[in-house]
Amino acid sequence: MTDHHDVLIIGAGLSGISAAVHLAQAFPEKTVTILEQREAMGGTWDLFRYPGVRSDSDMYTLGFAFKPWEHTKAIADGWTIRDYIHAAAAEHGIDQTIRYGHKVIAADWDSARARWTVTVEVAGGERLCLTAQFLHFGAGYYSYTRPHRPAFPGEERFSGQIVHPQFWPEELDYAGKRVVVIGSGATAMTLVPALAASAAKVTMLQRSPTYVIALPAEDDLANLLRRVLPAGLAYRLTRANHLALTFASYQYFRRAPRRAKATIRRMQERMLPEGYPIDVHFSPSYDPWDERLCIVPNGDLFRALREGNAEIVTDRIDTFTESGIRLVSGQELEADVIVTATGLTLELFGGAALSVDGAPVDPAATVSYKGAMLSGLPNLTMTFGYINASWTLKADLISRYLTRLIAFMDERGYSQARPVGPPEPERQPFITLQSGYVRRMIDQLPRQGLREPWRVHQSWLADWRLLTRAPLADEGMRFSGTAAGSGQVGDAEASRAGAPAPAAAGVA
Ligand SMILES: Cc1cc2nc3c(=O)[nH]c(=O)nc-3n(C[C@H](O)[C@H](O)[C@H](O)COP(=O)(O)OP(=O)(O)OC[C@H]3O[C@@H](n4cnc5c(N)ncnc54)[C@H](O)[C@@H]3O)c2cc1C
Repeated sequence: MTDHHDVLIIGAGLSGISAAVHLAQAFPEKTVTILEQREAMGGTWDLFRYPGVRSDSDMYTLGFAFKPWEHTKAIADGWTIRDYIHAAAAEHGIDQTIRYGHKVIAADWDSARARWTVTVEVAGGERLCLTAQFLHFGAGYYSYTRPHRPAFPGEERFSGQIVHPQFWPEELDYAGKRVVVIGSGATAMTLVPALAASAAKVTMLQRSPTYVIALPAEDDLANLLRRVLPAGLAYRLTRANHLALTFASYQYFRRAPRRAKATIRRMQERMLPEGYPIDVHFSPSYDPWDERLCIVPNGDLFRALREGNAEIVTDRIDTFTESGIRLVSGQELEADVIVTATGLTLELFGGAALSVDGAPVDPAATVSYKGAMLSGLPNLTMTFGYINASWTLKADLISRYLTRLIAFMDERGYSQARPVGPPEPERQPFITLQSGYVRRMIDQLPRQGLREPWRVHQSWLADWRLLTRAPLADEGMRFSGTAAGSGQVGDAEASRAGAPAPAAAGVA
């Protein structure tokens, strides 16, 4: 037995809730249901529970466009973000549309019936089938069950506790203990000052340095605007301000890397003890934004280093020992607890297997369409956020694109929107970030083309135009179908009037 929905959304995190609210506002008559594998809403902001967990972008842009962020802190704790997501869902009645404990394991598109059949695993391993005219994947970008966790030589000898931040044990007591945090990403930077507040000593052990920038945890201008203006207006102005600041600083870092490096260094010299070896611990070999920059609110990491019970060691692991870690340099780090902040495993579609008319689709063989759909996968949108700005900015634009697309198809009676790849053979990686978690998986990600609509923009402005203003019918999209509701796809294939239809329709 199947149950049918106009739209099925996979994932009840920021992306899924954003899409659900946009759809509910645009189409109150449609059935929109969220399938969530876990028993809780919030995604990342519910899963991660390690000490100090917080955003590293400002909440004025990480927040939803439709719900003002009204807390005083611009960089917020994980649980405050989780509460905010819950409140947004409740305000719009979306909480009632979530089916928890529903893990999507497969989805197959049936071209004859113009609908997706989604296979879901529920508690006890039972499988259900649901159908939908549209699928939206808000399933995030990493595996919830398999974090990146390299095996370290000798780790079985270590007599203390080894923990991964993705599965932080609630009962872990680190007060008065010696903790080594392996890693140099945002998670390690967040953990070190939080642990240092009660641990005897915290050592951040990194193989190579990362760019680290201190930003104020609060935005005084935003807090002032909120006092004098209506909440919605204050939020819109602050959001626009942060969007512009993020854009401008990214451009500065990319276009003038030498000057940007000097600026970062001057800031670090001001915040670190005199004579601190910045060249060793804070000077990466790459340019800013080749990999993500790390933000530390109010310079909390630098403060922990100044206060003395936190340190950074830049070296390589030789082996774990009974009492800690021996480094290649011969130095020994004594530890009671070792935290492997070694990162995430990238995963698309929440690990679900996709197929079209029974033929499996390899995401790596697809090309992105407008950064929102993939060639050869009809009636399916997905959110993959920005690498250089808040994720939710893109989630919002993709949600708006999805509502436009559905309204357009309803108006014209199309039942199928199938992106096709570009006619020219050149392709680029889906994302250009050089970070480890991206490099490890880049071969499994879709590709992008060299021009619109197949380019994946890392610019809100470019996406705003492409997703909310540019015509829906273009060279990269094939619409088809007979009158709405007939169920059968006719041969009324339509691309933009007069536009040449690409040679390869299907997976490019
Ligand atoms: C520790 C941490 C801090 C971060 N900080 C920032 C930040 O400051 N700024 C920023 O822009 N980004 C940040 N990110 C990236 C962050 O993940 C995004 O900002 C955002 O939370 C992603 O939202 P999402 O809804 O797309 O994905 P997620 O939050 O990952 O939610 C996906 C949801 O889909 C569900 N799901 C997955 N697969 C399936 C399936 N097969 N079936 C059913 N349900 C499924 C999951 O259970 C989850 O609830 C951070 C990430 C991490 C890990």
